[in-house]
Amino acid sequence: MGDEAYQIRQNYKRVLERIDRAACSVGRRAESIRLVVVTKGQPIEKIITLLDLGARDLGENYVEEAAKKMKHLTAIPDINWHMIGHVQSRKARLVWELFDQVHSLDSIKLAEKFEKVASETDRSLPVLIECNVSGESSKFGWPAWNESQWEILCQEINQLKEMVHLQVKGLMTMPPYFEDPEMVRPYFQRLRNLKEFLCERFPEMEWSELSMGMSSDFEVAIQEGATIVRIGTAIMGPRNE
Ligand SMILES: *Cc1c(COP(=O)(O)O)cnc(C)c1O
Repeated sequence: MGDEAYQIRQNYKRVLERIDRAACSVGRRAESIRLVVVTKGQPIEKIITLLDLGARDLGENYVEEAAKKMKHLTAIPDINWHMIGHVQSRKARLVWELFDQVHSLDSIKLAEKFEKVASETDRSLPVLIECNVSGESSKFGWPAWNESQWEILCQEINQLKEMVHLQVKGLMTMPPYFEDPEMVRPYFQRLRNLKEFLCERFPEMEWSELSMGMSSDFEVAIQEGATIVRIGTAIMGPRNE
């Protein structure tokens, strides 16, 4: 085994242990948390090493880059591909064709596009609603950093509800980066509060998933209720960007 493969193996084991410990620290079971390994900017050899360890949930940000990798990996049939990056409406069809789940549904316009392509073949698409809980202008997602914005979001969710080929599963966020993960905690709490608010307003819909937490802050995210963490560099090492 090469150095790189050894490192990925060690990193993967270590991250699983850390997920376990973070879950235990708040009385949760590690099995209630899904690890999506973010493979954007990583070469195919490293991804194969990861798959050899049993990982099957992969996160990608760019549809063309992901499509190339998928071509190399057709022999492994049970990979779940998660789109986690911003999707331009004109790429919606390709994303819907290639991915199993979209974390980054960030506008009604995109939702309408997905609904249109999905209805043509009647295959539905699991999606998470991406919310901007920090107010940073560099972030995508529905404005949700202030509770006064939540009513507007509800109006849009009423529209999403009509799109029968979109299976809304929950919420996703990208908080600001801080060196100290404790600084991110309030943003994770805000997304969880929003989820609880939506559970009450739309009890007929599913709000089970909270996709939050990355390499620098996933333990705090788990303590605040994450059901999906998206971890790249802590497992795969630095990216080629
Ligand atoms: C790149 C990326 C990640 C992973 O980031 P790391 O810091 O490498 O863990 C997670 N989520 C999204 C949306 C990303 O774009």
